[in-house]
Amino acid sequence: MPALTAPTHRVIYLDNAATTPLCEEAACAMEPFLACGLEGRFGNANSLHRVGRAAFAALEDARMRVARALHAHRPDEIAFTSGATESDNAALIGIAIAAREKARLKHGLASGGRIAISRIEHDAVLNATRLLKDLGFAIDFIENDRNGRIDPAALTDALHDDTLLVSVMAANNEVGTVQPIRELAARAHEHGALFHTDAVQALGKIEVDLASWDVDSASFSAHKVYGPKGVGVLYLKSGTPFRPFLAGGGQERGLRSGTQNVAGTVGAAVAIERAVQRRKAFAQTTMPVRDYLYGELCKHAKITPSVTVGSGSSDFLPTIVNVCVRGCESQTLIMQLDLRGFCVSGGSACSSNSLDPSHVLTALSIPRNLAQGSLRLSLGEDASIQQADSFIEAFKEVVDAWS
Ligand code: PLP
Repeated sequence: MPALTAPTHRVIYLDNAATTPLCEEAACAMEPFLACGLEGRFGNANSLHRVGRAAFAALEDARMRVARALHAHRPDEIAFTSGATESDNAALIGIAIAAREKARLKHGLASGGRIAISRIEHDAVLNATRLLKDLGFAIDFIENDRNGRIDPAALTDALHDDTLLVSVMAANNEVGTVQPIRELAARAHEHGALFHTDAVQALGKIEVDLASWDVDSASFSAHKVYGPKGVGVLYLKSGTPFRPFLAGGGQERGLRSGTQNVAGTVGAAVAIERAVQRRKAFAQTTMPVRDYLYGELCKHAKITPSVTVGSGSSDFLPTIVNVCVRGCESQTLIMQLDLRGFCVSGGSACSSNSLDPSHVLTALSIPRNLAQGSLRLSLGEDASIQQADSFIEAFKEVVDAWS
């Protein structure tokens, strides 16, 4: 098999929902922590000596900056993790178990407890609930409309007296649907349930205000906003019942054991602050390109949009375009476009190795044969109409040559 080498031809990267390149600001901030030898800021943030205390100071500064950027009430509501997969798992499992223990002690909860989630959650949430099912919890699904939107009334329909936790993502990673998180969290609270949101794709694209959303927990990932990979944020509102599932030395105030990745947290804080500061300008750049791409692609006879995105609509992320190409198959489309220098994806990057249609498109009632030809473009900071035009040209070339 030929060795994989970095592409030498021009690459047009349209897969920013899968990951983004590291920004210069984060790379510069991380540099001193990655330098070799004793000159580097290599300390363990839990050590008492000066090298450790210097690392601790950097870690706590990163925590404060993240808390401020996300509008948390206090820095100690922020725990750093290895990514949003861990944050989602920690939140779902840690809150569900602790809330059940509390409900048993306080109200004599007799059942195993229930969790309500949307059908279009990321696998990190979906598969965490499969684990919770094995631990005796019942899982309820909240119905969505044809565009993936969840009406607060649909959440009410999914709630039971023993629902302990609700999880709905702030914005979907495949089709870009934005959810009314404030209203959904309020509805869960009215019924005495806690509320978690996976806000990975929302960050830097729509306003994220944890205090005004009034959620009990939330997940974020640095590499989706031009930060380093392998660094996540778990927001846990103070007082939220939580049982950590990583047993160890009790770092992160007991919320997440394991020696902290100081360089990563410093880079994550810079990237998150940057994403929040640039959000409006970023959306102003990408939304017209999103709308243009939908408009032009939908002129093609083989294209069906996966969701109905009105021009200028803020019900969807300004960065995501998702279409189904009739009679074509995602994997082959992706490889053909790759040969022409375009990086795109089918469903989400995490599940794009599978031939099964994505669970998100299935939840939107898109027929299997159509969903098998799905294509997701996710725009980045370099989005432009010229970039869109060159993609459309390559796309037509590939699809029109399809036998
Ligand atoms: N949640 C959503 C919505 C995502 O898009 C992703 C990444 O694709 C994750 C969670 C997982 O994030 P990470 O790669 O940091 O584990």
